[in-house]
Amino acid sequence: MTVKVMKFGGTSLGSCERIKAAARIVAEEARKGASLAVVVSAMGKTTEGLLVLAGEVSCSGDRRELDQLLASGEQQSAALFSLALKDMGLKARSYTGAQAGIRAEGMSMEGRISAIDPVAVKEGFERGECAIVAGFQGQGERGETLTLGRGGSDLTAVALAAALGADDCLIYTDVDGVFSADPNKVPGARLIDCLSYEECLEMAVLGAKVLQARSVEMAARYSVPVTVLSSFNRGGGTKVQEQCVREDLVVRAVVPDRGVAKVAVLGVPDVPGIAARLFSGLADRGINVEMIIQSTMRGQVNDIAFLVKKGLLGEAIDACREVAREIDAQGVNFDVEVGRVSIVGAGMANHVDVPGKMFSVLAREGINLDMIASSSVSITCVVALDRLDDAALALHRAFIEEGAGR
Ligand code: ADP
Ligand code: ASP
Ligand code: MG
Repeated sequence: MTVKVMKFGGTSLGSCERIKAAARIVAEEARKGASLAVVVSAMGKTTEGLLVLAGEVSCSGDRRELDQLLASGEQQSAALFSLALKDMGLKARSYTGAQAGIRAEGMSMEGRISAIDPVAVKEGFERGECAIVAGFQGQGERGETLTLGRGGSDLTAVALAAALGADDCLIYTDVDGVFSADPNKVPGARLIDCLSYEECLEMAVLGAKVLQARSVEMAARYSVPVTVLSSFNRGGGTKVQEQCVREDLVVRAVVPDRGVAKVAVLGVPDVPGIAARLFSGLADRGINVEMIIQSTMRGQVNDIAFLVKKGLLGEAIDACREVAREIDAQGVNFDVEVGRVSIVGAGMANHVDVPGKMFSVLAREGINLDMIASSSVSITCVVALDRLDDAALALHRAFIEEGAGR
């Protein structure tokens, strides 16, 4: 029996009409005979709306209650979706994450899936039902609800596909697939037909919004074949899979990210163990850091700079100041008026001309490079925030529109 997971994001479920349109896509697929698990996000901007409501009744930020509240957005969608399907003559049943057997652990609002035992979903399949599963949530060890981080319905879909041994995991969204840049911002963006897990993960980690990074990691770990496609238009979308052999295309995508801030710890003594203390201090507070750069020695001291998500900046500064006092560093400074722009593509490591071309394109635009980092599948530059969009457009033009990937 073929099993498919189909996931619909918030915009695809933004109104009752859209829920019915998405249900028609599912009904069409169900009539072909596959067993279907449908994972749904909250309708439209419901999650933001619930966060605003919480802020209006309380300033406590009590994460346990926020988990309860936010999970309800997806539960509402699941029940509505199931009602719409039943009206179309299909058998369907909605499930909360807990009812679908999704177990989670870790911190409130940042739960991690620890196990999935989808017995109820499989029993439903035997009765000929479509399972409509509320995304973005699981049940903690003590029965509590945990949400899985923003964009977490993607993770629910991929994890459920892995647990069910699904033949396909179809992620329906509001654009035709994964593009060479955000199609809502870059008019010349091109649809990518096929991406490797590695490339897609790099895009997600570096700030492309289309798939939650943790879901791509999960897809790679369990070799889940993922297709990203539109819930509004028909088309093949983007396949995300193990290998995608395209030696001609070196640079697949340009990814700008406005969500980061730079922190620098200045005048750090050049002795063993200093970086360990600094980054253990940040890890103890659960602060994820990216793009760590240590400058070469000036006298007997170094500077260490890194990026954090803007929302974690305050905590990161506090943690750095505490460690800076202990290790006798000269100071801590930060900059929120920065962004990072990355070019992503497997095979970049074998093309020596790519970094030089990237820096020349940015230099021609008069854009200064604050930090530079590279991996085997990406090069990232930190630039002034007010030049970020110019940088992304120029790189997209040079590498994708004119350069055909080189
Ligand atoms: P959903 O609600 O379906 O989960 P998201 O809003 O999370 O959808 O992701 C889809 C959005 O991602 C698109 O509307 C698009 O603006 C944005 N996006 C950013 N970068 C890209 C990219 N490279 N390719 C496609 N979409 C992108
Ligand atoms: N509704 C949640 C969010 O907005 C989860 C999701 O849509 O994937 O982040
Ligand atoms: Mg999303």
